[in-house]
Amino acid sequence: MTDNIDGCNLDFATRAIHQSQGADPSTGALITPIFQTSTFVLEELGKNKGYQYARTHNPTRTALEDCLASLENAKYGVACASGLAAVSVVAGILKAGDHVIVGEDVYGGVYRLFERVFSRYDIKFTYVNTRNVDQVEAAITPQTRLVWLETPTNPLLRLADLKAVGDLAKAHNLIYVVDNTFATPYFQRPLEFGANVIVHSTTKYLSGHSDIIGGAVITSDEELYEQIKFVQNATGAVPGPFDCYLALRGIKTLALRMREHERNAIAVSEFLESHAQVESVYYPGLASHPQHDLAKRQMTGFGGMVSFVVKGGLEGARALVNNTKLFQLAESLGGVKSLLCHPSSMTHAPIPRDVQEHCGITQGLIRLSVGIESANDLIADLDQALALSTKASTLQNFVKKETVLAGVK
Ligand code: PLP
Repeated sequence: MTDNIDGCNLDFATRAIHQSQGADPSTGALITPIFQTSTFVLEELGKNKGYQYARTHNPTRTALEDCLASLENAKYGVACASGLAAVSVVAGILKAGDHVIVGEDVYGGVYRLFERVFSRYDIKFTYVNTRNVDQVEAAITPQTRLVWLETPTNPLLRLADLKAVGDLAKAHNLIYVVDNTFATPYFQRPLEFGANVIVHSTTKYLSGHSDIIGGAVITSDEELYEQIKFVQNATGAVPGPFDCYLALRGIKTLALRMREHERNAIAVSEFLESHAQVESVYYPGLASHPQHDLAKRQMTGFGGMVSFVVKGGLEGARALVNNTKLFQLAESLGGVKSLLCHPSSMTHAPIPRDVQEHCGITQGLIRLSVGIESANDLIADLDQALALSTKASTLQNFVKKETVLAGVK
């Protein structure tokens, strides 16, 4: 249980810095130490100081877990070796014959884990458009145990109505899991809308500096917590203390960073929306986003992820991603440095092409993780790369036209 410090009701930014991070009682160290040890000496047989073996617990990890739980207004946190390790320990509570309803445009690695690992254990997955709660309801069968969704989704920034799905899950007694990686607890707290479990890739905004791989599961349900903790201890995918320390260090500036990510993302998305080479822009903070009102209802900010479709398909996208100078072409997101990626061939490559097309992951789609550099510099970078993309698409159109004309002759 993570009570606020000394029973005080502290704001998010204060808890990010202080929650479960008091001075170390043995030395007075201001910052939570890295307890780089695999085991803990017993005081006597059957008596320890709360720690016995570091796969099960480690004090640096405990500080991270309790701080994360507090930020989601939850009781329990389980820090994991990666976001996918967090997904695995939650899926690990299922049994053969269970059925899971999953958002159709979840992160490709989650799709791969469900389809190529857990489906081997006779667990069935149905992928639905979670923007439409009726589709979620229609997929429920007597075997359904769990609903799994991301909102906003990766990479199309689509939203699910957190409360509508929460009400449905409650009515059908389903475990409701939300991957809150994109929004972070600073902008969205799904437990308040009925979710039972939150999953995070702490690799992203929570740690915030693109220097660790980590994950977390958060819940207020004691029974689920015990099951998840059991699976984690039994399977062993735990984070090392140094990575926990880096995550805690990053979390201290989460509130500050998220405000900057959002400020830059708004500026970048407005610039893209006005650019002739851009076909469409997906950002929940834009008035043109079809679920902008829902975003305002369930989020307190819109985040730092922006996706857009560039004209000229693959060639238009290639010319753009190969020519940005500040936006680095790389997988991952949520760090202070801006990144861009081509989801179809990178993050979402594990999803078959026809399924990608069905979900809207086209060849011209580009995903930006807008960092906290100067917005003017980021926009100038995109502007020069879009000019090169425009040239590439014009050339491609010319070649296509010539080919058609040659065919006519
Ligand atoms: N969930 C989302 C939304 C992600 O974007 C990712 C990775 O990109 C993951 C989970 C998996 O996290 P990790 O790469 O830390 O295993």
